[in-house]
Amino acid sequence: MEIMATIDFDFRNQIIQNDIGNTLAYCYQCATCSGACPVAQVTNGKYNPRRLILDALLGLKEKIFGKENAFGIWGCTVCDTCDEVCPQKVELTEIFTILKNMSVEKGESPDYYTTQASTILENGKAIPMQPAIERRREQLGLPKVLSPDVEEVQKLLKSTKLSEKIKKEV
Ligand code: SF4
Ligand code: SF4
Repeated sequence: MEIMATIDFDFRNQIIQNDIGNTLAYCYQCATCSGACPVAQVTNGKYNPRRLILDALLGLKEKIFGKENAFGIWGCTVCDTCDEVCPQKVELTEIFTILKNMSVEKGESPDYYTTQASTILENGKAIPMQPAIERRREQLGLPKVLSPDVEEVQKLLKSTKLSEKIKKEV
């Protein structure tokens, strides 16, 4: 027997009171977003933006969070197709970003996201330069890739409290 999920009004209000999140209230569940979503198509609906919007609108926090539900949030590739097709102009990807941020703060984000964030925090870029790549670029006559100002990047990221969120010391 399925257990009834509890409505969490605070959670719901946290999204609706956000400048962009308030578009959540305009959703009338037409499912145009799910029909157009490439991830929904290749996962046979396992990932479903319409359902995620509905769960957020109803404040069904426990159906959204929890490691076992992570794909329901993190399956989104942020391609923005749903935003473009939604007849109600619901800002789906921005709302999903709010949910992803909450997931990170709960320590429930997939490791590949936090690992990538750590790499940016440590190196100032997502893919640090490697000698083999540098040699190959030189052979091909390509210019050197300029190194980022790592301290500057770290300063910016620290102001977003990224290191605390991903529990990383720099
Ligand atoms: S397309 Fe827009 S209105 Fe329709 S279900 Fe998706 S979010 Fe709701
Ligand atoms: S932004 Fe995410 S939810 Fe929207 S269509 Fe793309 S993958 Fe699907």
